[in-house]
Amino acid sequence: MSRIAYVNGRFAPHRDAAVHIEDRGYQFADAVYEVIAIQNGRFVDEEPHLDRLDRSLGELRLAPPVARPALKHILRETVRRNRVRDGIVYMQVSRGVARRDHAFPAHRNSSLVVTARTTKPKSAAKSGGVTVVTTEDIRWKRCDIKTVGLLPNVLAKQMAAEAGAYEAWLIGADGAITECTSANAWIVTRGRDVVTQSPTHAILNGITRRTVRAIAEEAGYRVVERSFTLDEALAAAEAFLTSTTSHVMPVVRIDGRPVGDGRPGPLTGALQEKYEAHAGMAPGDGA
Ligand code: PMP
Repeated sequence: MSRIAYVNGRFAPHRDAAVHIEDRGYQFADAVYEVIAIQNGRFVDEEPHLDRLDRSLGELRLAPPVARPALKHILRETVRRNRVRDGIVYMQVSRGVARRDHAFPAHRNSSLVVTARTTKPKSAAKSGGVTVVTTEDIRWKRCDIKTVGLLPNVLAKQMAAEAGAYEAWLIGADGAITECTSANAWIVTRGRDVVTQSPTHAILNGITRRTVRAIAEEAGYRVVERSFTLDEALAAAEAFLTSTTSHVMPVVRIDGRPVGDGRPGPLTGALQEKYEAHAGMAPGDGA
């Protein structure tokens, strides 16, 4: 089946879909994005994702390309035309096309691109957990805004891939782990505290992170938002990462050294199961 993309008011075959060479997303990474999971035809945590999109737009004074009801319609239509039942929908909003000049253009004609594709749950293929490596966090000071300026993330993810690892955990200037290149980082201490970096400007406040936090608290675990170092992670009982596409993913080795007993931890497993139920995955889809 051929894929269909939405570009500025039109649906086009994916292979032909394009924005202008002077689109500010292309020229300056002057653009923000969101990714929402589709599970059994249902959008997972759609409103929080759209709220975060609004926040990203507001922080950069980007004009919303369409109102939320219209955006929701476009997302559904893109998912429908691509026959996605389990997968993702991606949306990107840029400051539009203008003669290349750093300052904002006078117009407020944002560009909107939407794509959707079928994906397999990653947790199914990674039931033994994943390994990560660490590297310096060289990103800018507003990682809370979900912009397409992802070059440091790309370089760190490539480093991880070349090391045979699933992700890179990024270490900030203060020596604390901020997050991963495209996920949030967590540890479970030997005292069973579930720990993740607080939502400062140094990290993207993941929607999965927020959901998992709520699920963990509901289950009676103590969630603590604070910094933690690599040494603390290596001494932890368990580690995991969270994102829209990885869900709750156990981390079993960091820089080649085992976390806990080097196997996915029980508390991580419990959160993974609860998150996958929240996301509407059929039992066994992900585990
Ligand atoms: N941090 C970064 C840098 C990311 O790119 C992502 C994924 N978009 C996340 C965290 C996780 O966010 P979410 O749970 O909303 O997918």
